[in-house]
Amino acid sequence: MKNTLLTLLLFFSLYAKGDDFKAHFINVGQADATLLEFSKGVVMIDVGGELRNITPSRTSLNNYLAKFYERRTDLKKTIDVLIITHNHYDHISLIMDLSKNYMIKRIITSKFKLTKEVEKAAKNEKIKLEFMDYRLMDSLMPKGYEVNLGNLVTAGTTIPKLMLYSGEVSVKIKHTVNGHNFSPSNFSSPNNNSIVSKLIYGKTSLLFTGDLEIEGIEYLTAKYHNHLSLFDVDFYHVGHHGAENGTNKELLDILSPKIAVISAGDTTHRNGGSAFDHGHPRRAVVELLNNQASLTNRKQSVQVHAYPGQEVTPEIIDVKKEIYCTCWTGNIVMLVDSNGKCIVQ
Ligand SMILES: [Zn+2]
Repeated sequence: MKNTLLTLLLFFSLYAKGDDFKAHFINVGQADATLLEFSKGVVMIDVGGELRNITPSRTSLNNYLAKFYERRTDLKKTIDVLIITHNHYDHISLIMDLSKNYMIKRIITSKFKLTKEVEKAAKNEKIKLEFMDYRLMDSLMPKGYEVNLGNLVTAGTTIPKLMLYSGEVSVKIKHTVNGHNFSPSNFSSPNNNSIVSKLIYGKTSLLFTGDLEIEGIEYLTAKYHNHLSLFDVDFYHVGHHGAENGTNKELLDILSPKIAVISAGDTTHRNGGSAFDHGHPRRAVVELLNNQASLTNRKQSVQVHAYPGQEVTPEIIDVKKEIYCTCWTGNIVMLVDSNGKCIVQ
């Protein structure tokens, strides 16, 4: 009897799992493409390729997705929701490949400087296109906009929830939010009109800020100044490919992440739009993350590269925290459980 009980306990400890999902950070060079894999569906955030060097990005994304859907034939080549954080080439350029080869049910993006590619893909493939802006977010403050994800998981497992907190800013005049002054020029680039999203999975939360820059971060935190705990997360997809203007100490203190992943290109490319040209990830940001107390210590530190500036030789630094970059290791797969744990595999 005792043995049967032990066997049963062992069985359940081995097989009663299932409350986890995988986040795939696909190496598309100096660009973003993230795939969240659930037991019955997929959410993607951005689908970019590197500016002026699209071929390696295209090959990498198409091969990765082909293998993924070969393994997950049950998903029938479907992407349930695609969030396009903003309309810049490195976040949208592979949309035609994606929409031709896979069934995208919905695209959610910002209308700000909407590109023809996104509109064309949506029109050609009859994909539902939805736009986010701050007027909508203001009306939903502080809750945010909840994306209806449909049924992405098998019965009995944790149900993921996707919240959006920002969108097209549409600031036409100078104005003040919680003591911070903003003018239209702060939001003239798509970066500061990025959609900020949070994936909640049980007790775990993951934050994606697109390419939000300092003014966009200040606008977000000024808007939500009474509700900053919304942004207290376990995981941070490092903003703007690890740019110096994509992350600051104030933001990291609000997020208090345990683990961070950067999407950026490797050091080999020298075309306009490469990691080298932008100097991504920036040494100052990797150091900021490395000194952030909330981030989990690695068992052993690793040596990685980061740029002290634009178009300069990258430098080698020791990283002792759970910080990862597609520019250091290629594709990254992270297992996320419902109890606050994110493990890069
Ligand atoms: Zn970008």
